[in-house]
Amino acid sequence: MIPAPFDYAAPTSLEEAVGLLNEHKGARILAGGHTLLNEMKIHYIDTPSMLVDLRRIPVLRGIKHAEDGTLRIGAMTTFAEIASDQGILKRYMALAEAANSTPDTPVRNWSTIGGNLAASSVGADLHAAILTFEATLNVFGRQGLRTITAHDFISGGFVLAADEIITSLDFPATAQKSGSAYEKFKNRASGYAVCGVALYAVPASDGTLRECRVAVTGVTNHAIRLPHIETILQGKRPDEELVITPNMISEEQDFIVDLAASAEYRAYLTQVLIGRALKQAIAETTSL
Ligand SMILES: Cc1cc2nc3c(=O)[nH]c(=O)nc-3n(C[C@H](O)[C@H](O)[C@H](O)COP(=O)(O)OP(=O)(O)OC[C@H]3O[C@@H](n4cnc5c(N)ncnc54)[C@H](O)[C@@H]3O)c2cc1C
Repeated sequence: MIPAPFDYAAPTSLEEAVGLLNEHKGARILAGGHTLLNEMKIHYIDTPSMLVDLRRIPVLRGIKHAEDGTLRIGAMTTFAEIASDQGILKRYMALAEAANSTPDTPVRNWSTIGGNLAASSVGADLHAAILTFEATLNVFGRQGLRTITAHDFISGGFVLAADEIITSLDFPATAQKSGSAYEKFKNRASGYAVCGVALYAVPASDGTLRECRVAVTGVTNHAIRLPHIETILQGKRPDEELVITPNMISEEQDFIVDLAASAEYRAYLTQVLIGRALKQAIAETTSL
């Protein structure tokens, strides 16, 4: 369980970090280290030639709520910081709940939103919430800055170059009257989601759902939105009996089968958790 020797650097600017990643073939970015260091210890990956620690780069940290209601979260912001931010708790509850659902306090204190995205683990909690809020990622590398949708990144449609660093995530403003929630059925051994549902709901004045976005993690190789379920829910009253079935949920994707759950059970969990998340999101609805 001891990794092979490697070099370590802690640059203080993005430019310096990108320079190091370019100069040292086989160098890897180090954020909270809770995935990377474990993978090195068990020799799941080849030991990097150098770890480029992002911790001393101030621009990568912090949570900023702009006056227009948008939100920017620096890539090195930890789960604990996200889960306790008052603005996020008020306007992006599903994100706070997803960050808080990682069962271990040390993990929440070290793991970062950028590392969680880049690690691309199956059942990663934040991914569902990030998809639900339709966030975009800012990425910096030798070629400069570029912006990509979280959907493209999470679905594997965009792959980071070896010298590219996720710098921050931008979240559009939520509707004036809206609510969101994250509901999870966790794997008792790992803590990851066997199924985790993030839901964002905008009620209309007559009490029906004007808009409803649903994303699920843990049931397929990467988190996904469920647009066909969103279409079914829109226009319905949240207190109506749910008209969705497990078959409808899994009809457009092959769900994972593993030791934790069958595909059918994952579809059933998704149905149950959508119902809970919807109830919770409506209960959490706030008006600005
Ligand atoms: C005991 C335990 C329980 C856990 N339970 C859960 C859980 O229930 N739910 C859950 O979602 N997660 C869980 N995790 C995962 C944990 O949250 C991840 O380790 C974390 O999300 C990865 O973030 P990190 O900051 O530690 O990244 P690191 O481990 O430092 O890096 C992970 C990967 O991302 C790359 N990287 C990091 N930052 C950037 C960046 N800014 N730009 C580009 N690439 C980058 C690294 O090079 C590396 O390849 C658990 C981990 C442990 C150890």
